[in-house]
Amino acid sequence: MAKDTPQTFYLKDYTPFGYDVESVHLTFRLAPETTRVLSKIRFAPKPDAADKTFFLHGEELKLISAKLDGQEVTPELADGGLKCEVPSAPFTWEAEVEINPAGNTALEGLYMSNRMYCTQCEAEGFRKITYYPDRPDVMSTFTVRIEGDEPVMLSNGNPMGQGEGWAEWHDPWPKPAYLFALVAGDLVNHPGSFTTKSGKEVELNIWVRPGDEGKCAFGMETLKKSMKWDEDVYGLEYDLELFNIVAVDDFNMGAMENKGLNIFNSSCVLASPETSTDANFERIEAIIAHEYFHNWTGNRITCRDWFQLCLKEGLTVFRDAQFTADMRSEPVKRIDDVITLRARQFPEDNGPLAHPPRPEAFQEINNFYTATVYEKGAEVIGMLKRLVGDDNYYKALQLYFERHDGQACTIEDWLKVFEDATGRDLSQFKLWYSQAGTPRVKVSEDYADGTYTLTFEQSTPPTPGQPDKAPRVIPMAVGLLSPNGDEVRGTQVLELTDAKQSFTFDGLASKPVPSILREFSAPVILERETTNAERAFLLAHDTDPFNRWEAGNALAKETRVAMVLDGAAPDAAYLDALEKLVRDDEQDPAFRALVLSPPSQADIAQTLHERGYTPDPQKIYDAAETFTQTLAQQLETSLPRLYAATTVEGPYAPDAESAGKRALNGRILSLLTRLDGGEQAARQYASADNMTQQYAALGALMKAEKGEVQSQAFFDQWQDDRLVMDKWFALQIACAAPEKTAATAAALTKHPLFDMKNPNRFRAVFGALAGNHAGFHHASGEGYQLLAENLIALDSLNPQTTARMCAAFQTWKRYDAGRQSLIRAQLSRIAGTEGLSRDTNEMVTRILDA
Ligand SMILES: [Zn+2]
Repeated sequence: MAKDTPQTFYLKDYTPFGYDVESVHLTFRLAPETTRVLSKIRFAPKPDAADKTFFLHGEELKLISAKLDGQEVTPELADGGLKCEVPSAPFTWEAEVEINPAGNTALEGLYMSNRMYCTQCEAEGFRKITYYPDRPDVMSTFTVRIEGDEPVMLSNGNPMGQGEGWAEWHDPWPKPAYLFALVAGDLVNHPGSFTTKSGKEVELNIWVRPGDEGKCAFGMETLKKSMKWDEDVYGLEYDLELFNIVAVDDFNMGAMENKGLNIFNSSCVLASPETSTDANFERIEAIIAHEYFHNWTGNRITCRDWFQLCLKEGLTVFRDAQFTADMRSEPVKRIDDVITLRARQFPEDNGPLAHPPRPEAFQEINNFYTATVYEKGAEVIGMLKRLVGDDNYYKALQLYFERHDGQACTIEDWLKVFEDATGRDLSQFKLWYSQAGTPRVKVSEDYADGTYTLTFEQSTPPTPGQPDKAPRVIPMAVGLLSPNGDEVRGTQVLELTDAKQSFTFDGLASKPVPSILREFSAPVILERETTNAERAFLLAHDTDPFNRWEAGNALAKETRVAMVLDGAAPDAAYLDALEKLVRDDEQDPAFRALVLSPPSQADIAQTLHERGYTPDPQKIYDAAETFTQTLAQQLETSLPRLYAATTVEGPYAPDAESAGKRALNGRILSLLTRLDGGEQAARQYASADNMTQQYAALGALMKAEKGEVQSQAFFDQWQDDRLVMDKWFALQIACAAPEKTAATAAALTKHPLFDMKNPNRFRAVFGALAGNHAGFHHASGEGYQLLAENLIALDSLNPQTTARMCAAFQTWKRYDAGRQSLIRAQLSRIAGTEGLSRDTNEMVTRILDA
């Protein structure tokens, strides 16, 4: 039998649905393998509709019966749904279907996780619940009745009533089906409340499995802070009587913003000092805020179609980054975000999976929940804000909420409010939404007679389907320093619009040192010939914290690249600069921890590739080891003092200041462990009363191959806690030496607690494998083979998670011919698998075709 040719969907083909949905009534009769869903939906034909086809999406549904205005009908079952002849006047559609939540391992639609019923409908999961026009531009009010014997039964909106074996819910806000949610199970709640700025009382709940009640307090406080922040900064108030969050163990994503009933991967909401690290607390804070902020940017104003996904995601990521910056440290948040962008989005933008923030075609939308749509989408909004200024930005946002509340919108609608609010023409700026690839900006400079000239040349390499790119609007934040370290020109935003452009600065007493792309004002790659002496100067003197870090990061990269290419020794001037900084107690500990964190090995590989070299993962690993060992020796005499000075005493608190201190302390400990044989780390492990310190000590010991006893102790202590066990699985692989990485991961897949059906556990193992650069890319090819085998096994259970993890192979063209052919063989093997899902097929084909 020939393979189905997968259907490709195009942005240009958009046509509205021919019917309005006036109301939706759903009844769920819950049973693990035979849940019945009864729908009663009021449709009204749109008078001006060009296409009056009545097509309802539906997948994996058993149709029991269908009625039109009370009369039995037999619809025509089509691929992916059904068609029916319908009246030309408003009518009522009724259907009864049967679904199997217990058998749903794809975790889309209604499924079971630990005997709890829950849903995930974004993007196209609702069609696995009942027949419906499952597209974001179809919005309606939902009334839901749940029948079953579960103690707690929840849906969107406000509760209407409940009794023995039933509960009813009504959501007064029209919404697309992807925001539908239902949860039923044995749950307990951590309650709270919030009074909105107009004085409305909102009941808040975090629902968890019995036993997890103690891990909700931080999430609840964060939720309240998010509600307050959105009122203070954006003027946006919550709009229901109730806001529920539910923690679920088996979940493909981080969390989901369903109206009034957010569903969270338990790893993104449950927190306690004993079981969560500082990084976990910060991530939980960001995700709770993110999902809450969607109530306006996503739910009240949604997307017209899935090509517009970055309309809600880019904006909401931008908003949650603002929130984190306000709650913690703005520069540290910015540096963290740029590290993530370069680690996740740049490889995507510069490889076979490159696509614009608003893609123009897809086969499976699940494959476009990417770093480009989310993180680059947020960067684009950051640039827009920088270009129009803060006041205009909030003016435009206000207009956006006034004009589009209750609508399903496009990027055009979004840009139009900025044009109307500011009078600015954004047609060139719009290229950021349609062009893929990371622009390169080459900088050259000239100084004569007190006038300094900066010349910028921008270009973007070809990406799949886009050989040529037009110049974009690039906001370039620049400041100038005098040779004695004073700032002679404060930050100013230069607007690049041409392929080549110059800017002059007059009246300078001497040739200045430029600080370019301050705050990382645009997601571009800067190319400029400079010296390590100048980088060290900026690391010491720049007034922009981001560029100070960037100068240190560039120094770290240069020294590592030289070590890899020429076998050079670590740069002495850089080591001195690091030592000075790490000992400077005037500096923020979180900032010092960031400067002390070396660029990732994948980052060095990408840098080498960009400079025309073929990266050798083992050499990159060796250089990293040598560098860190040399740094530890250089700091030898100060390490014990630094360790003591950065140890946080007293009860654990997850605030930014303590977390920054602990981050620095963890870096110091890992250096110390290289010199003291693990003595200090073993002491810290034994005395730690919080996960951050326990985990840091365990990691330092395992990296030194001295952590066997502690690893066993950690397992014994935490084996019943799934989230902590994810850390245990991941850490062993992350810390393994390159030649042992694949074998370590393979052994862990045989562990009784390895569970392929749990996405968190799968990602713990295989995310760590792919993240161990030298281990995954070990010349034996064992890492590639192990990942491919497990992706093939997972695909029939969970296509979405499988497809996303295929991205581990996206950088394959960077490497030598031997590794390329090993990877190609594994990709071909996945592609040739009988019955491969549409999700995985699309990803593997795109990666192979490059
Ligand atoms: Zn989101």
